[in-house]
Amino acid sequence: MKRIGVLTSGGDAPGMNAAIRAVVRMAAYNDLEVWGIQHGYAGLIKNSMQPLSTRSVADIIHRGGTILRTARSEEFTREAGQLKAIEALKINEISSLIVIGGDGSFRGAMALVERGIQVVGIPATIDNDIPGTDYSIGFDTAVNNVVDAVNKIRDTATSHERVYVVEVMGRNSGHIALAAGLAGGAESILIPEGESSLTELCQRVIRGYQRGKAHSIIIVAEGYRPPGVEEIQSPGMYVGQFIREKTGFETRITILGHIQRGGTPTVMDRVLASKFGAKAVELLLAGQTAVMTAIQGNNIISVPFNEVFSGQQEVDLEGFRLAEILSRP
Ligand code: ATP
Repeated sequence: MKRIGVLTSGGDAPGMNAAIRAVVRMAAYNDLEVWGIQHGYAGLIKNSMQPLSTRSVADIIHRGGTILRTARSEEFTREAGQLKAIEALKINEISSLIVIGGDGSFRGAMALVERGIQVVGIPATIDNDIPGTDYSIGFDTAVNNVVDAVNKIRDTATSHERVYVVEVMGRNSGHIALAAGLAGGAESILIPEGESSLTELCQRVIRGYQRGKAHSIIIVAEGYRPPGVEEIQSPGMYVGQFIREKTGFETRITILGHIQRGGTPTVMDRVLASKFGAKAVELLLAGQTAVMTAIQGNNIISVPFNEVFSGQQEVDLEGFRLAEILSRP
């Protein structure tokens, strides 16, 4: 029986477990054996792996995080580390690997491909910043987590007539901020990809109060930088202090942090992860390598790693403009 490996790498994302489950069960359906590698490439280097039976992935579809654990490995970025990884795969007679993670993990996977290992990637990151796929596993859950928090903040914001600034994750991209701002009915959204003047933002807040708005909720992506400002620790803190000073309104700042990553994956993430996991096994069986599973429109397809590395994952700027129109006081 042919043996394949599976690992999760980079930041954890809710839905990774559903993908692992789908890989193991689709593989078993096709008479393949799956070994789970612990702690991403760090565990691969240490030969930390064990067989995964169909039963061993029972009861995980609803759990956030990853049962295989994940890691970032400095050692794997160097040749000596990569050779150790290849050695571990050889010892265990694994010539095919499924890597669940972000594009950094796929760049790492290329080092294995170049040494003869067959690799298929599954995009998983809450930031949704992987080119070639409309969605990555974990994004939908993260956005829902943010919207839940915004709903709660909205209740208290209305009662106190305050300005609330909410800083959300997303690294250098504004996907989470944009989707959560649109779905949460935020008054303003600040993202790295959009042009936003903070002076105009303050005028909007003032206009809103003059027209009877009970509160303002402003979503700030962690990657947002105000024009002319490069070095800041927290854009949410910066924006909140700016509004407080310029408008005199009582302003509260919430940095949501890691609660965005946790919790049970949404239906969308579970379905996506199940389809990606199954597709990844099919791609291995079809002899493909250096490709990633992807969703474009309603189609589950494969995209070569090279296209992922050279592409851009654009934010929905039309959605950005729509959010601005719909939130006008
Ligand atoms: P996330 O977006 O959630 O952070 P990611 O997969 O992009 O996920 P990275 O930290 O960029 O996360 O990459 C994960 C691991 O992949 C790194 O710790 C490193 O071991 C390996 N890796 C990344 N880039 C390379 C590269 N160019 N060469 C070799 N290995 C790499």
